[in-house]
Amino acid sequence: VGGYQSGFKGIRKLTTAEVLNLDVNRIGIKRTQRFSGNIAWENGSEIRIAKSESDSLELSYVITDKSSKRNYTYEVKLDYTSCHYSNERPWFLCPHCGKRVGKLYHRDGYFRCRSCHRLNYRIQQEDIRDRVIRSIDNKIHRIQDKLKTERGLDNIFDIPKPRYMHLKTYNKLLDQLKELYIERDKSFMSILDSYKTKELEELRDIRELIVQ
Ligand SMILES: [Zn+2]
Repeated sequence: VGGYQSGFKGIRKLTTAEVLNLDVNRIGIKRTQRFSGNIAWENGSEIRIAKSESDSLELSYVITDKSSKRNYTYEVKLDYTSCHYSNERPWFLCPHCGKRVGKLYHRDGYFRCRSCHRLNYRIQQEDIRDRVIRSIDNKIHRIQDKLKTERGLDNIFDIPKPRYMHLKTYNKLLDQLKELYIERDKSFMSILDSYKTKELEELRDIRELIVQ
């Protein structure tokens, strides 16, 4: 268990970029694997995470204040969705509201989802991956709207033809959708690989601690 130094003070509204966050896709979680290790951030913060055989992650850390020292240990449940290229994509279930999210943010002692912390999310402060993926997602959503189907990545390969749509249009839209889906996955993987930040280096270390 590492020490923790709070990097944010004052009353101004925080943006997500200024807050310690945990990205489920950068930890290297696999459903059947157990592991434990530490995650450290550049400001000296450090937490311990451990995954048992159950589908949850245990977070533990200490927050020291001028006068007090407090231990935090709690579970974050995990969920998985099927993913075309890698087998399964992991998600956090926010420990506060239960919503399925890719990132948890630390504030006031706890890691929770963005909406639970009511964090201000500014486009210019999103990292590159978020921007690229989001722009692809927007294109995917527009096509899904045209096809009168639910937005999302779950049903991309199984969309019925809307009643009054020409077959030619329908096929064209499906092709575009599949291309975007492949593009999304490629961007995701290549940007993931290109991360050179200290944070990710730390996360890579954790991958090596994974116990089969
Ligand atoms: Zn939440």
